[in-house]
Amino acid sequence: MFQFMTSTRIIFGEGALHDSLSLLNQFGYSALLVTGQDQQRSQQLEQYFKQQNMRYQRLVIKGEPLIAMIEELAAMGRTFCPDMVIGIGGGSVLDVAKSLAALIPNQGSVYDYVDVVGRNVPLQVKSLPFIAIPTTAGTGAEVSKSAVLQSAQEQVKVNLSNVELFPDLAIIDPTLTYGMDSVLSGCCAMDAFTHLMEAYVCGEPNPLTDMICEEGLKRISMSILAACRDDHYPSRSDMAFAAMLGGMARSNAKLGAAHGLASSLSGRLNAPHGLITARLSPYVMAENISVAIELGRSDVLARYQKLAVILTMNSDANIEDSVQWVDSILTKLQLPLLSKYGLCNTTFEEVAEDALRTCAIKGNPLPLNQQRLITILEQVCYRCCDYHSHD
Ligand SMILES: [Zn+2]
Repeated sequence: MFQFMTSTRIIFGEGALHDSLSLLNQFGYSALLVTGQDQQRSQQLEQYFKQQNMRYQRLVIKGEPLIAMIEELAAMGRTFCPDMVIGIGGGSVLDVAKSLAALIPNQGSVYDYVDVVGRNVPLQVKSLPFIAIPTTAGTGAEVSKSAVLQSAQEQVKVNLSNVELFPDLAIIDPTLTYGMDSVLSGCCAMDAFTHLMEAYVCGEPNPLTDMICEEGLKRISMSILAACRDDHYPSRSDMAFAAMLGGMARSNAKLGAAHGLASSLSGRLNAPHGLITARLSPYVMAENISVAIELGRSDVLARYQKLAVILTMNSDANIEDSVQWVDSILTKLQLPLLSKYGLCNTTFEEVAEDALRTCAIKGNPLPLNQQRLITILEQVCYRCCDYHSHD
């Protein structure tokens, strides 16, 4: 038995934003527009609102989605009283917009509804209609039911998660990702990769997410370099599609140790989420493969074997070729090492202990104990230090 949920309506393709503007009218007459700092991105929407005599208010998001910021914006949103919330931007912008859609009609504080540091109670009132328009190809927040927020006090990331939070409309227009910086695109693309990879090998996969992961991984393998390094437009579309598939996969299957360790590290390192998961991935994969060999888990090994075939596009690939593939992509994309963000100065025992408490790690194909997680962190750090000794 399995179930599958995603956004109510998805419109995908070059020019999708322009062609879908009239659909916004079905949600009402006033919009709270949540954007990043680049005003150009939302110009098309703002022009449309003016043409239609719609009431709107634009909120500009800078930096991480802090809980205190969400509280303040939700109070402003309640005063404005919008019919819908629209988020256009990267992962953080969509997470803020999604949280506001949920919190504006509900009483109480953000802490009532988030996990880890909050009470995690279900929303009392249905969310406002929420429209997600991603301008990066990474998190897949446009098709997921959760928003990741940051608690400044506790220095941890927390989730606001509820089936109510699936967007009512996701408009995925790959042209919005054209021209993006190569390292930033690389971090986003590798986040999408990690969602697909972890969901594919996780402890609770299902036949539908398997199909989704295989297609997403295939597109990433074909297009990641051309999209991120060369800004090749058809490849950018592949990445937007793969990111969407990654969002669906993580909402309906589970994740694993790369995301578990990343959520523990993200409160400690000021590094992009996609970079953390990307740099951890090859070592998590290698560790899982070696534990699977020790435990004789042929089912898990078969998954990694298939992963290697998809990523290398070679039917004779060895199981370890999957790890090698990730490593070489990281080098080719010239993504920074985590030592730059202070990974090697964190206390690995504590990072591992916190990681074991995350929801993501419970999806790992095999249980990894604290020592195994420490070994993964040591290997990532060794790689950094090894690299610097050759400078
Ligand atoms: Zn992720």
